[in-house]
Amino acid sequence: MKTGLYTNPIFLEHNTGQHPENANRLRAILDKLESDKLMGKFKVEAGRTATSAEIKMLHTEKLISEVETASESGAQTLHTRDCVISAQTYKASLHAVGSVLDAALEVAERRLDNAFCAVRPPGHHAEFDTAMGFCFFNNIALAAEFLSREMGFQRILIIDFDVHHGNGTQHFFEERSDIFFVSMHQDPRTCYPGTGFAKENGRGVGTGYTLNVPVPPGIEDTEYLQIFSTDVKPKLEEYNPDFVLISAGFDAHRDDPLASLNLTESTFKKLSFELKHLAEQTAGGRMLSILEGGYELNALSSCVSEHLQILASDE
Ligand SMILES: [Zn+2]
Repeated sequence: MKTGLYTNPIFLEHNTGQHPENANRLRAILDKLESDKLMGKFKVEAGRTATSAEIKMLHTEKLISEVETASESGAQTLHTRDCVISAQTYKASLHAVGSVLDAALEVAERRLDNAFCAVRPPGHHAEFDTAMGFCFFNNIALAAEFLSREMGFQRILIIDFDVHHGNGTQHFFEERSDIFFVSMHQDPRTCYPGTGFAKENGRGVGTGYTLNVPVPPGIEDTEYLQIFSTDVKPKLEEYNPDFVLISAGFDAHRDDPLASLNLTESTFKKLSFELKHLAEQTAGGRMLSILEGGYELNALSSCVSEHLQILASDE
């Protein structure tokens, strides 16, 4: 299996201080991949910076210039207090997007079988014109838009298993049927950002092409995987995606400080296997996974290690 691993030192320079979404997350992931002796399994790529035209596929010019200006002016935050910004945030954000677009192209054209983007800032909360929830530009939504607009894919699946609802991603695509957004997350009555109820199922021609599956706080591996098997997996198979994108957040782990699910590494391993199998059945194996959340460093790094071992496995 030719698996790409996109990572770049610029992602460490988005300096958020003591914030839970900090550079130590990526350091922990890379250290773990080294200590598990996995780096040799990947085609390691540095990615590239995105152009503003690429960001403007989905975001406003105003948001782009606000991120740039806030970075350069020494502002502490942008739009909401949880979006901490530093001098290199704009550059890191552009590089995160450029890397996922590069990875999408390489997987689309089969130079890679699949890929994982170890990028930050994360993206799935970022809206059309607003930074939100540690996110500035919506990395995965831009990858989906690129695959649709430039590469001709017609049934793109975005599956988001981060513990928080991927509100930004949903809002970009909820009126479309050619991009199916599926999110499993903690019950929004008990968890940020407070959206992602089951009744949010798309609009207009997009009705039925947004699937929100909230799960109760405290849920454990067996019950979570049962819900995946009965409520999610058949709908993914029915959609028959021609490209699989994963918003890979690992904050549903039981040790994560930001939410209240009780999952272990084994669930992320099983989900990774199921999604890889789906991609092989319907999308010629085309799968791109992009890092979102995960804030307990040991849990995060071991979940990413399990996830990547599945991606790179020949079995
Ligand atoms: Zn999250």
